[in-house]
Amino acid sequence: MPDTPQPVPSPRQTLSYLHRLFESYGLEAKSKLGQNFLIDLNLLDLIVRTGEVSATDAVLEVGTGTGALTGRLADHAGAVVTVEIDKSLQPVAKQIIGPRPNVRFVFGDCLAKKSVLNPDMLAAWDEEAARVSATNKKLIANLPYVIATPLISNLLVARPDIERMVVMVQWEIAERLRAVPGTKDYNALSVLVQSVADVETVRKVLPTNFYPRPKVDSAIVLIKPNAEKRAKVGDVPAFRAFLRDLYVHRRKNLRQALSGWPTGAKDKADVDAKLAELGIDGKLRSEALDLEQHLRLARAFS
Ligand code: SAM
Repeated sequence: MPDTPQPVPSPRQTLSYLHRLFESYGLEAKSKLGQNFLIDLNLLDLIVRTGEVSATDAVLEVGTGTGALTGRLADHAGAVVTVEIDKSLQPVAKQIIGPRPNVRFVFGDCLAKKSVLNPDMLAAWDEEAARVSATNKKLIANLPYVIATPLISNLLVARPDIERMVVMVQWEIAERLRAVPGTKDYNALSVLVQSVADVETVRKVLPTNFYPRPKVDSAIVLIKPNAEKRAKVGDVPAFRAFLRDLYVHRRKNLRQALSGWPTGAKDKADVDAKLAELGIDGKLRSEALDLEQHLRLARAFS
């Protein structure tokens, strides 16, 4: 009987392992691509555990890097689609991950434009999910920090079928994701994400857990899309567009912000009348409103 190729066990991505690996491939970590590789094996395991990864999952990983998380995800998932923009890491990741029938590589940018996801990545994810008859789609990734916000929000808006996201993001983004009204971190991202999902900070992560060390703290965050919340929002893309326009004027009060709408000014008397009808004080700023008030405002003014 011919031997079935056995998957190569995931390497222990430690600092000395990465040093040796980068030296042997003649590579250097690129900070502008957010290349901060996790060197804490417990944290890699914590990400996989928080993902509750099983054979019925089709997992999307953004940022393959050297494949440390990819291999661990593939040990448990039905399928893993992993995306990497840096061409010089392709051979490294492929060699380290080895021949695994449940891993599919997509080499390119996860975003086609700031607000558009890479269609090849989405198609690969859908195909793999169908191929293994996956019941859950999950995003599980140590994200490059610059694209964390557009990736999370685009996926939440465009993909209601995602069961969960377990993502490493910079601490500042984690704070925004769970911020409450009236605090400095509360912004359009907080409102959008909390309106369609439940958010939990799983663990704060220090710079010493990465190679090279980032300048800021990070966090593992669990985002669970919530169908009931989503149904209350209704048209999620329209709500997102409304929030974007509203938060262009975040320093202005609601009356001024709504009158000076970027996509066509609104009549002040009309704004006052609608705000009075909603029982919302026009002298407040948008960042003082709770989720429910944002929804009512969007319904009245979108
Ligand atoms: N998963 C690896 C780990 O945990 O060690 C690497 C994570 S590292 C924080 C982020 C990775 O995302 C880098 O390998 C980087 O090259 C890649 N990356 C950066 N921007 C990207 C983009 N727009 N699309 C896809 N990958 C990107």
